[in-house]
Amino acid sequence: MPSSIATGPLQVRAVYSTPLRTRFRGITVRDGVLLRGDAGWGEVSPFWDYDAAESAAWLRAGLEAAEEGWPEPVRARIPVNVTVPAVGPEQAARIVAGSGGCTTAKVKVAEPGQSAAEEQARLEAVRDALGPAGKIRVDANAGWDLDTAVARLALLDRAAGGLEYAEQPCPDVADLAALRRRTHVPVAADESIRRAADPLAVRRAEAADVVVLKVQPLGGVRACLRLAEEVGLPVVVSSALESSVGIAAGLALAAALPELPYACGLATVHLFARDTVPSPLLPVEGHLEVRRPEPTADSLAAVAAPADQDRRWHERLDAMAEQMRAAA
Ligand SMILES: [Mg+2]
Repeated sequence: MPSSIATGPLQVRAVYSTPLRTRFRGITVRDGVLLRGDAGWGEVSPFWDYDAAESAAWLRAGLEAAEEGWPEPVRARIPVNVTVPAVGPEQAARIVAGSGGCTTAKVKVAEPGQSAAEEQARLEAVRDALGPAGKIRVDANAGWDLDTAVARLALLDRAAGGLEYAEQPCPDVADLAALRRRTHVPVAADESIRRAADPLAVRRAEAADVVVLKVQPLGGVRACLRLAEEVGLPVVVSSALESSVGIAAGLALAAALPELPYACGLATVHLFARDTVPSPLLPVEGHLEVRRPEPTADSLAAVAAPADQDRRWHERLDAMAEQMRAAA
């Protein structure tokens, strides 16, 4: 069914909806729109807490995928991390063991209601499961103030036997910069880049050692490549919990970056009970192959959203398109 953004051959081909296997980012169902244009399939799936103005970037990313395609890759496989949610140590170890050979783990910390001891136990379990050569990073999702971050990172760095970096330990760019002077653990900026009006503030403040880039919230692969060049720091490409159609855009970015010194956070489609494609982007030997899986009529039928959800997405897409045109 054509939407109001449809010009020429571009069409909304599917509104998908699938339960998640594990509650993630507070949600249990993931949904979004798939577009099909001359260049292929694109995903537009802003979370529901993003308004139309903030979602316009997600639409630009989907249109880039469908209408333009992506720059040429310079590598064919992308190393990826396993993500360990704020679970107990036994489950954390099981997740690492079942990760498809990932040698880097990203462990969620700063979960409200959890103690430092619970986080230490989780990190120790992940270290045991990965072995001494594995790399461990933590993601606090902006959950600590500066002093808590200093104290907690010292504890967690010991529990992990060394942290690769800490992702968004504090919400404020100024606090990230201050933290870097008070810990030897490298700092990665995520929320400070993707939900900030001024992503380059991180560089000016010397607030990070690494930046996390996500294709949809930042408006596409080319927009991310430009931002990476401007920021001038190592990039970790992460997913916004997309289906394999959206993950393919993250792979295209990771494949096109001149340097890729860290494992990327693109191994997330196993969280979907059902994917939008018959051959999901799952890691093998800790890597994702750079490819672009296509949905089929059957795979789309299996994830088709109910009529009311379908209607909500079409309305939302119209609102995003209006914002996009207004910003152009
Ligand atoms: Mg993060």
